[in-house]
Amino acid sequence: MDKQKVAEVLEEMAVLLELKDENPFKIRAFQNGARAVESLEEDLEKLIQENRLTSVKGIGEHMAKTIKELVETERSKEHAQLKKEFPEGVLAMLTIQGLGPKKVKVLYQKLHLKSIPELEKACHDHKLLKIEGFGEKTEENILKGIEYLKKNIGKHLFPKAQEEAQKLANYLSSSSKVKHISIAGSLRRCKDSIKDIDIVVSSDHPQDVMKIFTAYPFTDRILAQGDTKSSIILQSGINVDLRVVSDTEYPFALLYFTGSKEHNTVMRGIAKDKNLKLNEYGLFKGTKSVPCKTEADIFKALELSYIEPELRENSGEIEAAQAKKLPTDLVEFKDLKGTFHNHTTESDGANTLEQMVEKAMSLELDYLGISDHSQAAYYANGLKPDRVKKQWKAIDHLNTKLKNFKILKGTEVDILPDGSLDFPDSLLAEFDFVIASVHSKFKMSEKDMTQRITKALKNKHVTMIGHPTGRLLFEREGYPVNLLELVNVASDYGKAMELNSHPARLDIDWKICKYAKSKGVPVSINPDAHRTSGIEVLKFGVGIARKGWLAKKDVLNTRPLKEIEKFLKSYH
Ligand SMILES: [Zn+2]
Ligand SMILES: [Zn+2]
Repeated sequence: MDKQKVAEVLEEMAVLLELKDENPFKIRAFQNGARAVESLEEDLEKLIQENRLTSVKGIGEHMAKTIKELVETERSKEHAQLKKEFPEGVLAMLTIQGLGPKKVKVLYQKLHLKSIPELEKACHDHKLLKIEGFGEKTEENILKGIEYLKKNIGKHLFPKAQEEAQKLANYLSSSSKVKHISIAGSLRRCKDSIKDIDIVVSSDHPQDVMKIFTAYPFTDRILAQGDTKSSIILQSGINVDLRVVSDTEYPFALLYFTGSKEHNTVMRGIAKDKNLKLNEYGLFKGTKSVPCKTEADIFKALELSYIEPELRENSGEIEAAQAKKLPTDLVEFKDLKGTFHNHTTESDGANTLEQMVEKAMSLELDYLGISDHSQAAYYANGLKPDRVKKQWKAIDHLNTKLKNFKILKGTEVDILPDGSLDFPDSLLAEFDFVIASVHSKFKMSEKDMTQRITKALKNKHVTMIGHPTGRLLFEREGYPVNLLELVNVASDYGKAMELNSHPARLDIDWKICKYAKSKGVPVSINPDAHRTSGIEVLKFGVGIARKGWLAKKDVLNTRPLKEIEKFLKSYH
């Protein structure tokens, strides 16, 4: 069992203990244990071998024993015991937005609700009103949460699907029967949530490829096996469709199965206008086929400039390709010169300032913006002004020792309910940059929330708004806010927009990136990293930025340090 899985089990044990009403110290021990394991810098197995687990902060004797058991036997007796005490449906109820262990425990004990469908019915029948502290609003919110869950059933976060797809593609490519292979579908288009994996292969031996595919060791079930199309469900629960075609059909199949459907429809229309016929098998003039070796050849044959896969959503890309007005230099990871929005152990990060800097340098970045939480975020150990000043000293000191790298002093300051900020202007003025975020009072009308956030953005020291909608994909919808209005204000006041690259956030989404570009507002691709590995999620932000048509020049943090410093100076 790897450390990620171990952390997940410990986290679940904490929840189960909470359901059981166990002593809070014990619950916290498991929460801390999970966090400690997840943010380990050292190899977990090595720590176990050398009997050094308890030397890690947050891991006590009992926790060390549990971790060792998990790593060595893939299970924990205590975990199994705890799980037995609750029906599985009770755990599932915890995935509903706004339902924590405390509420679930009451629902289970008082109303004997054991699953989401039972809970849904109980809400409709207003059974929850019988419980003290539960009202009609609670019922309404739970029903909304269930609706949201249903809407997202069968969807997966991009990184999970991408990882699974790549692993499978590597497995297939190792066969000599596979000539060309590509991931297609929504993954290739960099959508933020993925329903299934599409893979296109060219081969002279389709049946052999299908056999290899359906023998993939991480398969849970085979749904269909044919000569050109087979489908499986992976153990991780993701569906995979594989198409095997000939070499001549390959570019057409790849174009077709990359989609989107809407993009394909318009493409077929363009072909038709030229008296051609385009489908997944080829491009035809009457009965004669127009040879194309690559997707680029197909676009060329239709007198279009090449359209990058991320852009194929029928949102103006075809018209732009006809007019030769597509952005030609969509941003790439290597274009990023630095990044903002990173946490350290000063607030709720798992790694120190030094460790975060080291990681940023290893990614070949030239600057790193540190933005720990402000005082109102007490749950995240937010900093009071005196601790801010201490951190500045530490940063100044480290900066004198660094060559060709600079740490920028920032904060993720809370936007209070009335739109004022959690630090006085005099302090904000001393930071290199300021990210202002909403972390409380999510339930406001769109009008009030927009006013609250725009007020914060208009503060002359604020550089950008953090995770502007607060959404957590598959977990909770964002608070209501008029993003177009936010971008307009950013444009009027010379501010930037954050693209928070955390895969569960991807906030702002690609459509708003596109709007920001149209208004000349630079987008900052930020990781919101809470540990060193968290900085790597920048690559997911780059995918969304590309999907939002952003070229290198549209992204704030592609600018070299000197230019960034000049940009940030305008806030003082
Ligand atoms: Zn935040
Ligand atoms: Zn943050």
